[in-house]
Amino acid sequence: MDFLIPERTQIIVEMMDEFVKKELYPLEKDLDSDDYPAFEKELHKKREIVKQMELWAPNHPKEFGGMGLSLMEHALVSEVLGQSPLGHYVFGCQAPDAGNIEILHLYGTPAQKEKYLKPLIEGKIRSCFSMTEVDMPGSNPVMLETTAIKDGTDYVINGHKWYSSSADGAEFAIVMAVTNPENSTYLQASMILVPADTKGFNLVRNIPVMGHSGKGYFSHGEIIYQNCRVPQDNILGGEGQGFVMAQDRLGPGRIHHCMRWIGICNRSFDLMCRRAATRTIAPGKKLASKQIVQAWIAECAADIQAARLMVLHAAWRIDTLGASAARKEISMIKYVVANTLQKVVDTAIQIHGGLGMSSDTILAYFFCHERGARIYDGADEVHKTSVAKQILKNYMN
Ligand SMILES: Cc1cc2nc3c(=O)[nH]c(=O)nc-3n(C[C@H](O)[C@H](O)[C@H](O)COP(=O)(O)OP(=O)(O)OC[C@H]3O[C@@H](n4cnc5c(N)ncnc54)[C@H](O)[C@@H]3O)c2cc1C
Repeated sequence: MDFLIPERTQIIVEMMDEFVKKELYPLEKDLDSDDYPAFEKELHKKREIVKQMELWAPNHPKEFGGMGLSLMEHALVSEVLGQSPLGHYVFGCQAPDAGNIEILHLYGTPAQKEKYLKPLIEGKIRSCFSMTEVDMPGSNPVMLETTAIKDGTDYVINGHKWYSSSADGAEFAIVMAVTNPENSTYLQASMILVPADTKGFNLVRNIPVMGHSGKGYFSHGEIIYQNCRVPQDNILGGEGQGFVMAQDRLGPGRIHHCMRWIGICNRSFDLMCRRAATRTIAPGKKLASKQIVQAWIAECAADIQAARLMVLHAAWRIDTLGASAARKEISMIKYVVANTLQKVVDTAIQIHGGLGMSSDTILAYFFCHERGARIYDGADEVHKTSVAKQILKNYMN
């Protein structure tokens, strides 16, 4: 087994790492700024530099202006970009656009690619993914109330969605809606492109998440689709193919998220070690001299290492054997890394004491905004059930 990272990948990762630390860390203080347009302008200036450095859209195909990295390479990139909440956005590989790009790339018609995919990869527009509903369990997504009913040459969409991340300012949504209720459960829903300026697309609010509503890209929208009419040409793939396509979107997407979370763990771990080594806790004694703190550091270091290797292994399986052969590994990393993230950020806050609770470090931001890791893209419990079923089927007749 070879753990060496190819030289070209290593160079890319180091360039990105330096950029994130030098150019993006200083901007993080404005994450909750009231003047979102000014903050966004600064981010877009950084995007231009990234494009000039030819580091734009690392995971997207070369023919569309991306770097065309493999999933394994992008996993390593995602780790360094994840150190800052701004990393993926500034390098043009942020969720939910990254997943929507994959869907459009795989299933879009030439006209859809021209209208939506091209400007999305170029970073000229943003998008959102609108599946979860207020009154239905997201953990059992086949239970959808949103419908898209044919009327002439159009679909008329009605439904109440929420947690459509980054809907505020998005040019369009990919909406999951029931088009074929007569079909078997997994073939009832379709993905439909809905421009945000369509009549009946009502962004009700940005949902306050742990007290922060956020703005623009950094928000989660509640949307009511009310007699929202779009041409039938706006369907992606085919009718009833929504869940099949959603699976394609989620496999690589989980690798991106998990390596981003490893990046968050690395940053939080670095902060915890720095604080422990420099905080005087008694005359002549640093916090790092306490055995309990040493144990926390040793445990977090091992947890991060184990989680990281699991994600890289899952990425390697997807690259070499395909997403369906890596189903178990993809589910395992989802709950292992999300829980490691939560433990490491929480421990880092504990070591910082009152400072950890303040917004003077990035830790409180991570704590608020990344708690959702154990819920979105499949809650812990759903993935654990899936892993257990895959293992136990070998023991049952
Ligand atoms: C920060 C954030 C961003 C998100 N972004 C998006 C987005 O961009 N687009 C989108 O469509 N959605 C998005 N979501 C929604 C997300 O996908 C759902 O919240 C998730 O699927 C869970 O659905 P639910 O909230 O309806 O919880 P429910 O389905 O009601 O489940 C609640 C809890 O019940 C437990 N549970 C559920 N099923 C089982 C089971 N089988 N066995 C045991 N326990 C179980 C779990 O603990 C779960 O957390 C986002 C959510 C968050 C928090």
